[in-house]
Amino acid sequence: MIKSPRGTRDLLPPDTALWNFVEAAVRDVFRAYNFHEIRTPIFESTELFARGVGEETDIVSKEMYTWEDRARAQSEKTQSLTLRPENTAGVVRSYIEHQLGETGQLQKLFYIGPQFRRERPQKGRYRQFSQIGAEVIGPPSAGSESPLRDAEVLEMLATLLNELGITGWKLELNSVGSAADRARYNEVLRTALDAVVSSMCVDCQRRAATNPIRVLDCKVPADQPIIDTLPVIADSLNEASRAHFAQVLAALDAAAVPYTRNHRLVRGLDYYTRTTFEFTHGGLGAQNALLGGGRYDGLSEMLGGPRAPGIGFAMGEDRLVLTLLAQEAAAPQVLADAYIAPLGESLNAAALSLARELRSQGLRIELGDGSFRLKKSFEVADKTARRMIILGEDELQSGILTVKTFATGIQTKVPRTELAVFLTKPASE
Ligand code: ATP
Ligand code: MG
Repeated sequence: MIKSPRGTRDLLPPDTALWNFVEAAVRDVFRAYNFHEIRTPIFESTELFARGVGEETDIVSKEMYTWEDRARAQSEKTQSLTLRPENTAGVVRSYIEHQLGETGQLQKLFYIGPQFRRERPQKGRYRQFSQIGAEVIGPPSAGSESPLRDAEVLEMLATLLNELGITGWKLELNSVGSAADRARYNEVLRTALDAVVSSMCVDCQRRAATNPIRVLDCKVPADQPIIDTLPVIADSLNEASRAHFAQVLAALDAAAVPYTRNHRLVRGLDYYTRTTFEFTHGGLGAQNALLGGGRYDGLSEMLGGPRAPGIGFAMGEDRLVLTLLAQEAAAPQVLADAYIAPLGESLNAAALSLARELRSQGLRIELGDGSFRLKKSFEVADKTARRMIILGEDELQSGILTVKTFATGIQTKVPRTELAVFLTKPASE
């Protein structure tokens, strides 16, 4: 038997109804905040992620699906390609490639789609998973650096989770400052780590030498008390970074969005500057992050583009659905409005015409088959639809159809011209 590859899964009905509910609700919220959809390729050149996500990160150093795409013609070169592990790099590449900055306006873009990372599969962690994300990016003259943009994105996320009916989420927030602040903090950390790093895990010993800030991500229990004694980044921020962050917090306070500050939240990607954040949910267990994001003021330039500060987030759609399922928001079984049972194969064609007529009026119709005995039609219909329409030679000639409503067991004679109206009535009548 051929199974789906490790770390991938099939989403089946009725769960797909819950996925559609999530996506529809999310699209409504994006619309209210005037975001527009962007769709970028599922694979990109490997170099995009190496530069845009960072060689040092877990994603680039060990989680990417990369292959050498061989040339098909002499004129073509082989190229290293990668299934996208995240979508921010692709969006910013697209922003640069299509010169969206030339409009002089702020670009507010959202995406919904699959991402790929070679991770150890477990609950809430898959090798193909779906992210819902958004980016606000543009030239500084469009206001892309304003702390109001950060606060608006965070307030939108709070609204979005509330709209979805997700309760008990927690917003954690930090500022990692400008690139210069981070460099200064890295030096402060390096000095502080000199005295203690020999008693820390091997990963931390390596990070202390290459990129000390990553020590804050360490999950090894024995290292935690040591990390708690390290200097915090807030003390290394310059005046402008402090003021920016203070304005983000003030706007959140004014909008009554609850948050906690977390000095250790530096996020896994190298490109973040100033505001970084995560929304977590206790119901998710070890994989408790619903979404993460932050500001990336230097990313466009890192990818060879113009200056284009921005802020964005990526939300794990799989984890949103898991959270809803844990809250017992089980996906409802969706039943068709009616099942058409033709009495004999000679009525199949007439049944298709009737189905077409009703479907064109917006009804959800399941079409049976004239080779089924009536008893079998009833059995199948009872599982898939709220009502069954019997279509025999008599019904076709007279234009009066027999409709059985399963919830009540009542059979009703309905003229064909009134059928659509009848079928939209609640099935309990
Ligand atoms: P984690 O700490 O869970 O590994 P991350 O920092 O790698 O998360 P991001 O790159 O910030 O995650 O991605 C944003 C969101 O995408 C996460 O908060 C999570 O909800 C979701 N996500 C990331 N990796 C996976 C995965 N392998 N399977 C399912 N969802 C994922
Ligand atoms: Mg990860």
